[in-house]
Amino acid sequence: MKSLQELTRPNIWNLAPYSSARNEYAGREARVFLDANENPYNQPFNRYPDPLQLELKAAISKVKGVPAENIFLGNGSDEAIDLPYRCFCEPGVDNVVAIEPTYGMYKVCADINNTEYRPVLLDDHYQITASQLLDATDEHTKIIWLCTPNNPTGNCLKRDEVLKVIEGFEGIVIVDEAYSDFSAQKTLRSELAKYPNLIVLNTMSKAWGCAAIRLGMAFASKDIIDIFNKVKYPYNVNLLTQQQALEALKDPYEVDNWVKILLQERGRMMVAFSELPICEKVYPTDANFFLAKMTDANKIYNYLVDRGIIVRNRNRVQLCQNCLRITIGTKTENSELIAALRQYQ
Ligand SMILES: *Cc1c(COP(=O)(O)O)cnc(C)c1O
Repeated sequence: MKSLQELTRPNIWNLAPYSSARNEYAGREARVFLDANENPYNQPFNRYPDPLQLELKAAISKVKGVPAENIFLGNGSDEAIDLPYRCFCEPGVDNVVAIEPTYGMYKVCADINNTEYRPVLLDDHYQITASQLLDATDEHTKIIWLCTPNNPTGNCLKRDEVLKVIEGFEGIVIVDEAYSDFSAQKTLRSELAKYPNLIVLNTMSKAWGCAAIRLGMAFASKDIIDIFNKVKYPYNVNLLTQQQALEALKDPYEVDNWVKILLQERGRMMVAFSELPICEKVYPTDANFFLAKMTDANKIYNYLVDRGIIVRNRNRVQLCQNCLRITIGTKTENSELIAALRQYQ
């Protein structure tokens, strides 16, 4: 790996971060807060929230098995996807490499940050070859984006190829594990100590059922987390989100139960789809959704919309021609979708 200083934009490396009122006394007991120009009334919303979310990180640390100093929390994964560009990629100079197809935000954030985005097509089984990704890099490549289980294909990337990418690249490899709670694949979070160039993303939006509160996570070396903390907005995770996330984390068994039900339903739905005359192929998946190749995705999509049922039309995505992406819902919702498709003609 190149040094973190070489990988970081010089203005970010030299940045003196904003120092909030609460940073400055940190660690000591205090009772009277006359430092931040807050209103003393309207408790508890009158006070700025903890900029480093230490209580929440301690709870996440227990559930995810990652030390708190290796955790960054953001306003959804969206923030954890945008920040690496702002920290590492010099606009108009640097580039990133990513698998194709994959989650759309990696490219949107590249475009916003005026960073060249180099997509590398997956193979027919939606798998990567490490050497192909590495071949697409040059001296200005700062980041390689991987997503496993991948969205929209649903499958896990082969672990040995993922490790070859991490081991063979001089820059930073970001592995988005948004759907890992639905998969038996071993998480890469546990490998952080071994790979200083690895960032693993997680979110509370999927298995944890908290998309509304906007809480995303990045796990990485302390040095990378320190850079993120310098660049992020000082109060990037609001009090309501921190409180609600703490509440959700008290009951991880409920999440396990949701996952179990969703995986059962996923099995049922994939069988039902494979028996539909209008479905040509159901792709293997490790997530809470699956991809289905249909006879005519656009027509079937519109037919479903007319009946108030929304699935994701991926027809125009490379390697996903005529594919619909189906999220697993409740039993009733899933049955409604199947019933509608059985009536399609
Ligand atoms: C849904 C999803 C996320 C979640 O993003 P949030 O901003 O945390 O809601 C992240 N990555 C992938 C690949 C996703 O599909």
